[in-house]
Amino acid sequence: MAQTRFSGVATSRPFQSKTTSRRGAELYCGQLRLSTLAAEYGTPLYVYSADHILDRLELFQRALAGREHLLCYAVKANSALALLRLLAEHGAGFDIVSGGELERVRAAAPEALSRVVFSGAGKTAEEMDLALEAEILSFQVESEAELALLAQRAARMRRKARFSLRVNPDVFAATHPYISTGLSEHKFGIPIAQARRIYGEATGRAVRKQRWLEAYGVSVHIGSQIRSAEPFGAAMARVARLVRELERDGISLRSVDAGGGLGIDYEDAAGFDPAAAAHAYLYAMEQALDGLNVRLVLEPGRFLVAQSGALLTRVLYVKKNGRKTFVITDAGMNDLIRPALYQAWHEIVAVQPRTGRAITADVVGPVCESGDFFARDRRLSPVEPGDLMAILDAGAYGMAQSSNYNSRPRPAELLVQGREARLIRRRETMAELFAPEMEQVAVLSDPLKSMKK
Ligand SMILES: *Cc1c(COP(=O)(O)O)cnc(C)c1O
Repeated sequence: MAQTRFSGVATSRPFQSKTTSRRGAELYCGQLRLSTLAAEYGTPLYVYSADHILDRLELFQRALAGREHLLCYAVKANSALALLRLLAEHGAGFDIVSGGELERVRAAAPEALSRVVFSGAGKTAEEMDLALEAEILSFQVESEAELALLAQRAARMRRKARFSLRVNPDVFAATHPYISTGLSEHKFGIPIAQARRIYGEATGRAVRKQRWLEAYGVSVHIGSQIRSAEPFGAAMARVARLVRELERDGISLRSVDAGGGLGIDYEDAAGFDPAAAAHAYLYAMEQALDGLNVRLVLEPGRFLVAQSGALLTRVLYVKKNGRKTFVITDAGMNDLIRPALYQAWHEIVAVQPRTGRAITADVVGPVCESGDFFARDRRLSPVEPGDLMAILDAGAYGMAQSSNYNSRPRPAELLVQGREARLIRRRETMAELFAPEMEQVAVLSDPLKSMKK
């Protein structure tokens, strides 16, 4: 069962500069020097603070203490097994979007499978079977065709399938277009106006196949990195109206899943108050739910883990092309794609800052793409080759979106808790990168042999 170990709600970031008399200012993660961690484990290196993640979890748990709730961490934000284990030990459930993420939860915390909700617009029959067999809490169903397939698979396996229709509330939320999901023009969910009919048909006694379906709840997710409480409240108000209509139809849902999407402030970290953001968000939803007696499920991803993590990288070169200065790091867009993919802004700081005049530079990786940048025209303290830099707020959608592009092995990952740093994923090896091809002996033998001659 969930043990409690909370360090008290800290609102500050885990990566802080400390001044030691001998060395000057230096960046730490909690009580550990990042320069020491980089020397021991190499770069690029992801470093996460477990204490910070637990503080964020507690922020939600405390604010929701008065209502039946379940926090289902969105695995896609950062699917490291050690993080899943940490969150499960503290009572979290999980929001998954693939069979692979289901297997991650099973590997990290099998006891938490009963606290899993399964989202995603393209679930396959095989993925449904896996999840039915694991007896997850609820399938968040995104179309009538998916519901029909789920009914079929459940009947075949003789397993109960609890489902929640993911409704599309047609609510606009200001965020990057790639991560906005709540408008009718997006691929996600079922138009909310159709939901009542579908619940009615799915719970009707007439269809034998439907015997294995159980209408458990309703879900909504309007997008990611949303910085205002208002669209969450608007979406929830529409969902609450649907729940009341269904009640009149004799269908009483047990849960309302509000999805994830609460954002952080990447650009003004010092001015960002996570407690205030969480409270405004939850208050807007409480208002909209207005006395409905349902279990509130939330699927936070970014808000829980983004600020817990940094990507440590070493400067390879500093070069000038015309009037521009480029700081070339050993981390690239394959390690952290957010700036390239979403034009995302990340704070970048020197781990052991040098004194002297600030420079303006692009911070770029070694990948052969002009989109391989972390920052453009950024004011930085002076840097030299060999210096360490930390790209902050990289705990969400960093490692999770990493790739092997340019045949680059993925970084290692460290989890810091108290005075201890634990390697939770070692650096990938070349042999691992090539393995799926090396098995195909036919591909290799001829061309490689002939090349040697
Ligand atoms: C991505 C996603 C989340 C998590 O979003 P965050 O912005 O990281 O909180 C939650 N639910 C669903 C269905 C998602 O697709």
